[in-house]
Amino acid sequence: MGRPPSRDKETQELIRRFQSRRARRRRLNVAFACLGGAAVVVVVVAAVLLLSGDAGNRAFSGSSTDTPGEPTTTLEERVMTTLPPSTSDSSLNAVPSITASSVTSTLPPTTTSQPPPTTTTSQSPPTTAPRAAGKIVVLDPGHQAKGDFNTEPVGPGSTEKKPKVSSGTAGVVTGTPESVLVLAVALKLRDSLASHGIQVVMTRTTQDVNISNIERAQLANEAGADLFVRIHADGSDNSAINGIHTLYPASIKGWTDDIAAASKQAAELIQKELIAATGARDRGLDARSDMTGFNWSDVPTVLPEIGFMTNPDEDRLLANGAYQNKIVQGLTRAILSFLGVG
Ligand SMILES: [Zn+2]
Repeated sequence: MGRPPSRDKETQELIRRFQSRRARRRRLNVAFACLGGAAVVVVVVAAVLLLSGDAGNRAFSGSSTDTPGEPTTTLEERVMTTLPPSTSDSSLNAVPSITASSVTSTLPPTTTSQPPPTTTTSQSPPTTAPRAAGKIVVLDPGHQAKGDFNTEPVGPGSTEKKPKVSSGTAGVVTGTPESVLVLAVALKLRDSLASHGIQVVMTRTTQDVNISNIERAQLANEAGADLFVRIHADGSDNSAINGIHTLYPASIKGWTDDIAAASKQAAELIQKELIAATGARDRGLDARSDMTGFNWSDVPTVLPEIGFMTNPDEDRLLANGAYQNKIVQGLTRAILSFLGVG
């Protein structure tokens, strides 16, 4: 079984990165506080110089921040009394270089604060991170290398059964299996969501797995997902059919009645943003009561069908990295919006 990496590990990694970012921010704050303090001292000295009669010319001589060559005792005393005990004339002179070096020396090298390449967060602290904290999205790239035609109940307690995983469609021009396409898109979406501070759990990250639709739903349930997104592409006997539509669970008492409304809300957002991002034909929403992965889900769930691989033009588009990025952009916007982030 190709279980994804344990969520505890991912959570710990997220916490570690959050703490290191916070520590770096704190060090920066200290550095800027020092800089601010130094600026106050400089202003006080300059003001005192300007006020003390003969210092006027020197203030414009380009050395106004230096300690006056011949300070009067009263000036010295006045400056000293306004400063904390640790600050002296010599430290005043050295302020610029001290501050500069303290900023650079207290900051960890930028490379060490980068996540390891296998993790899912962006390089820069995302602006939406604080509001995204604790949000979990489970991404399920549909299908797998080989379908599993053993059957499982379509819902808890159901006598009706369907294959555990079907094999999906394939590109009519490219020959790309649906499972390969949707995995590529899901991995991009994972990185995009993670860059916004969302914790992402994947049902699979490789082709070589065997995970049934019940198991995928259970994984989302166990993760406590705020949204379970199942990514698929479509196929049809009619190669003229193209466009995007988004499926969501119909309300079935005891199965999906507790998640149907939220799922529909997510589906509406996803459909809208996918069409806006790609310009694809809008095929609307479909409420479905026959899908195992919906009926076993205890968390809001949606299934965008991102295009028809049996349509030559759409198959070519779906294989294009730039078009995939548009899909990812639309999905990201919709998911952030559904989660109330950003
Ligand atoms: Zn599919």
